[in-house]
Amino acid sequence: MLAVLDILDALGICRTNFPRGPEKLADQLRVVVEYFPLHGCEGWCVHGDSAIVCINSNSPPVRQRFTLAHELAHLLLHTATDVSFLGDLGFTGDDEERSVNNLAAQMLLPAEVIREFVGQAIPIRKETVHGIAKAAGVSELMTVLRLQQLSENLSIKDSFVADFGRERNWQLPRGACPSHRATELLKLTSESTGGEYAYDIRDRENLAMLFSTDWSQTLFVQSVERPR
Ligand SMILES: [Zn+2]
Repeated sequence: MLAVLDILDALGICRTNFPRGPEKLADQLRVVVEYFPLHGCEGWCVHGDSAIVCINSNSPPVRQRFTLAHELAHLLLHTATDVSFLGDLGFTGDDEERSVNNLAAQMLLPAEVIREFVGQAIPIRKETVHGIAKAAGVSELMTVLRLQQLSENLSIKDSFVADFGRERNWQLPRGACPSHRATELLKLTSESTGGEYAYDIRDRENLAMLFSTDWSQTLFVQSVERPR
């Protein structure tokens, strides 16, 4: 049986046990976690007599941890059966999957931990993103999605994450910027040293940075008030 735990308690466990939050949570929830080479999916969960999560052992470790957090979030939110596929880390249009991913992000990257890493250093630099991802055992894409969620909290005026992925098209949040501008920023960041490109617009200081994997290119763009 799945032990009963409310969401706040679950997040508390993840915070105290960072970076092994989801693993510890699985223990406490008495979820059976199995690792198998799966084909065509990243993992799944079922909740019958006992709760079982299965994870694709062929996937990169950061992806396996995301899948674990994702499936645990399904169990906590009582959407008890799920199959998860590659790709939709943060850009899914499905409401249920979106709230599951949201909770998974909070498990893997607790706000308190992020605040400690970032401190007063905004805009957040690429090396900080890299440091957080490494410490938390998650991908840089996952990290920037979480930073974007916490923007306001971190005194970032505005930010967005845009992904140029597998389908060779932009996944851009509504109102972020037109796709031709994203393409221009992609070019500018990839030509800049360290994949960071700073530019000013009126009273705002902007920083765009690029994260590349074999299958996607992700832009994280922050806008902060210029110090007077
Ligand atoms: Zn799911």
